[in-house]
Amino acid sequence: MDLLERLDEARDTALEAVSKAASLAELASVETAVLGKDSDIGAVRRSMGSIDPDLRPRVGAKLNEVTKAVTALLEERRAELERQEAEERLQAERVDMTLPAVEYPLGVLHVLQQTIDEITDIFTSIGYAVADGPEAELAWYNFDALNTPPTHPARFESDTMYLDYGDPADEMLLRTQTSPVQVRWMESHEPPVYIIAPGKTYRTDAIDATHLPVFHQIEGLAVDEDITFADLKGTLHYFAKEFFGPGTKIRLRPHFFPFTEPSAELDVSCFNCDGGEPDCRVCKGAGWLEMLGCGMVDPAVFAAAGYDPEKVTGFAFGIGVERPAMVRYGINDIRNFTDNDLRFLHQFPS
Ligand SMILES: [Zn+2]
Repeated sequence: MDLLERLDEARDTALEAVSKAASLAELASVETAVLGKDSDIGAVRRSMGSIDPDLRPRVGAKLNEVTKAVTALLEERRAELERQEAEERLQAERVDMTLPAVEYPLGVLHVLQQTIDEITDIFTSIGYAVADGPEAELAWYNFDALNTPPTHPARFESDTMYLDYGDPADEMLLRTQTSPVQVRWMESHEPPVYIIAPGKTYRTDAIDATHLPVFHQIEGLAVDEDITFADLKGTLHYFAKEFFGPGTKIRLRPHFFPFTEPSAELDVSCFNCDGGEPDCRVCKGAGWLEMLGCGMVDPAVFAAAGYDPEKVTGFAFGIGVERPAMVRYGINDIRNFTDNDLRFLHQFPS
């Protein structure tokens, strides 16, 4: 077979192999097989030196023509296979945007946290800062500094959870009220003081429909020059109207707390019947709802905290969190707050 025919045949075989290559990898081995030095075309290229010089130009021209034709088809096929493989990859990795999304159920803030946040907002909007203090407290801050001497019944073991009886000076307990935060704040801040201190408090109460050994309070303290009982009354009336509604009335009944003098219990008019229904489910006909304890800060408390009782006056109050929440939402058992029953908790979307 002469060289020209051999080249024609090699070209036809090569072109067929290239067009049949089904992948880029296969095309790469076909390329070696049809153009490499061991291929028919490669063999002709290698033998050019030994060809009869008269024939050489024609064979050389043919060799070029064949090599070009095969290379051109190789490039074309390679581009085609690249497009095809990219398309297959896109199909395989396609994200179906019409599939339904995975649903993550959203929780709600606990109704007590919502209540704390709401009361906090009412006071911060009139300039009060939020203060914090330890739940495991020294007896000094929980009692002594609040004018509650060791002989006071509130200090009995039956009322208070003690962590460690030591020297009276470093006796530790779970705070029975948020009031120690007052003293800690006054020790480290100069007057004027306008703070509220929300947090957990602890007592040895047995659990029933209205008692839990852990509950929440929001302590309030205002200290400045010339603060009077009228300021106390005005501030708490503002709070009652913001929390229970604009028509809410308040009344103050004399009471006793060791750390305030004079002291009072504050009642708010029943938001449900406004005092008009003998069989009201909220106030049971009383017309009033007991809400919080308050009073003018006892000078002995100022002295214990390092303030001069001759220069400053102030008032303090302690709002329970559970009770107003129960009253407002008609919750009749305090244990609902801690049962963690989602059917209950989801009734108060935040
Ligand atoms: Zn009522």
